[in-house]
Amino acid sequence: MPRTSRPDTWGHSTVRTACPLDCPDSCTLDVTVEKGRIVKMDGGDANPATRNYICAKVRRFPDRVYGEDRLLYPAVRKGRKGDGTFTRVSWDEALDLIASRMEAVRTEHTAEAVLPFCYGGSNGLLTQDTADAALFRAFGTSRLARTVCAAPTGAANQGLYGKMPCVTYQDYPHARLIVLWGVNPAASGIHLVPFLKQAREAGAKLIVIDPRATSLARQADMHLPVKPGTDLVVALAIHRYLFESGKADDLFLAEHATGVNDLRARAAEWTFERAAQVSGLDVSQLEQFAEMYVSASPAVVRCGWGLERNRNGGSAAAAILALPAVAGKFGVRGGGFSMSNSTAWGIKAAAWMDDIPEPTTRIVNMNKLGRALTEFDAPPVQMLFVYNCNPLTTMPDQNRVLKGLQREDLFTVVFEQVFTDTARYADVLLPATTFVEHYDIAKGYGPISLQLVQRVIEPVGEARPNAEVFSALSERLGLGRAEEETDTLMRVVAKLPPHVGAELMESGSATPPYGGAPIQFVDVYPLTDDRKIHLFPDALHQSAPAGLYGFQQDPSTEQYPLALISPASEKTVSSTLGELRERAAVLHMNPADAEPRGLASEDPVRVFNELGEMHCQVALDKDIRPGTVSLAKGVWRKNTYNGSTSNALCPDTLTDLGGGACFNDARVQVASLGRH
Ligand code: SF4
Repeated sequence: MPRTSRPDTWGHSTVRTACPLDCPDSCTLDVTVEKGRIVKMDGGDANPATRNYICAKVRRFPDRVYGEDRLLYPAVRKGRKGDGTFTRVSWDEALDLIASRMEAVRTEHTAEAVLPFCYGGSNGLLTQDTADAALFRAFGTSRLARTVCAAPTGAANQGLYGKMPCVTYQDYPHARLIVLWGVNPAASGIHLVPFLKQAREAGAKLIVIDPRATSLARQADMHLPVKPGTDLVVALAIHRYLFESGKADDLFLAEHATGVNDLRARAAEWTFERAAQVSGLDVSQLEQFAEMYVSASPAVVRCGWGLERNRNGGSAAAAILALPAVAGKFGVRGGGFSMSNSTAWGIKAAAWMDDIPEPTTRIVNMNKLGRALTEFDAPPVQMLFVYNCNPLTTMPDQNRVLKGLQREDLFTVVFEQVFTDTARYADVLLPATTFVEHYDIAKGYGPISLQLVQRVIEPVGEARPNAEVFSALSERLGLGRAEEETDTLMRVVAKLPPHVGAELMESGSATPPYGGAPIQFVDVYPLTDDRKIHLFPDALHQSAPAGLYGFQQDPSTEQYPLALISPASEKTVSSTLGELRERAAVLHMNPADAEPRGLASEDPVRVFNELGEMHCQVALDKDIRPGTVSLAKGVWRKNTYNGSTSNALCPDTLTDLGGGACFNDARVQVASLGRH
């Protein structure tokens, strides 16, 4: 392991670690500790792409570690569900209670009546799919499809390219054209921004495709304020243009791709005129975009996650990822696409779990949590074990989730760092360590990096690491033995490629493959079985309701005409750190939509549809396209007037591919709330 000064001794030390939060960048961190307490978090230099600085969100992380919302000891509910009153108990009492309830539920309803609920976006390789998976697999609980994010883009990327490694931040300055599609790096992935600046200073053009004129869109050479849910037709119109105008790279496609004719046929109906009408753009904008893309080399498309959160999201991602193949943009540094680099290390997901097979129990899609808790009956969910997740804030159809959590016969365990919206509804609360109090392994999915997350300080209060808690429960249930988190760390490291594990433990980070910056179709090729790009994979085509690249119409109605989107913000990482957000949430609305509704900036408003209503303040904002309103992702219930957030208005319908969440398919009406 890398040498660090002991953080828990009196004095002053700086400990090198890494940020595992759900952000592509995976910063190296230098954490300054005085007298056993963190006084500063700053950037370090092990990940060269993050250039020694970090975001404002994580600079505030010590406020989470020591904040008043921190969970410090185990507790059991003493009032009514949701009252938020708890009695302190010992760890032994809490774990005994949980183990006995698991056994009782299994006896009465079968083990499938236990639903573990987690989403490890902000966790590394150690704190999810290790001791937790061992426990729940061996017990035979229901399984969870963790598809709230990245499932549609992941399915598309897997289907077309087998998740081939992609263009990393460092290579953006080589590009002559950069397309930011459904992504705002200024809010999520800030370390791309200086590389964009460098590229532009060297003459690169920038195109931003986003319903909002973000700060980067305002600086761009071209901004396409696309209607939410219509990115697919924009991409198909570009494909049609490439094929019809003879500008498709036929030689490349003949050698490296299958499914070309199917994609061509699907794109054929999307003339610029038709795509413009559906997407709310001008024909001239589409023509100009196509010309700029065709004529620039190297050209890179940064495909984001904003475009996946609707009924067409998977097909949209597939059509966008297919563009560099059809236009012949691979084979040069700075050309191709960026999506997720999570597979670049060749680390098989949870290889350390191979000796405990997954049971064949039912799979619950996490986006359907509300229905699982209120409608499932074969068996009903009788025990919910929440960890690494705050579903009452982050899942769609919030009112249904709330109704489920309020069930008096549901036994809910919440294993958390702070008192989240979900924690309020727990029967048993378990305090979890944060990433500065335990070990983990952080894998970046923007820059290619793998870093050791160090235990910087002793756990605050009685907080414990995941591995120790889940293995202790396994022991109580006769399914395994309790272990220290370092035992788990060694087990995971042993399953990494040997040179990677050794280097990681020796120096705290591993040397990335391909020098950290692969050139697509020079250094890396599709990881599909035949090493080809599959532009029309049959499995995707069969699973999409309208077939692959099939467009599904906008769900708006006369009653609910406005598209509500919930983009990432500069305040939280998903909902993590939401306890530190003090200001009330604000709905952004174009003045053209506000005027007929008689609304002015700072007015309190009702935002509503058939699923619920949210009360908040409105801000008039010409930077959001008319017909679309926006409220930040990750807002907690305390940040609105009535305790409902945008997720109360989001349907629990699923994306066309991957079973993802359709957050941006919420269609709403907005009206004045009167004085508040
Ligand atoms: S959230 Fe992202 S930008 Fe912020 S410190 Fe973590 S990795 Fe870096």
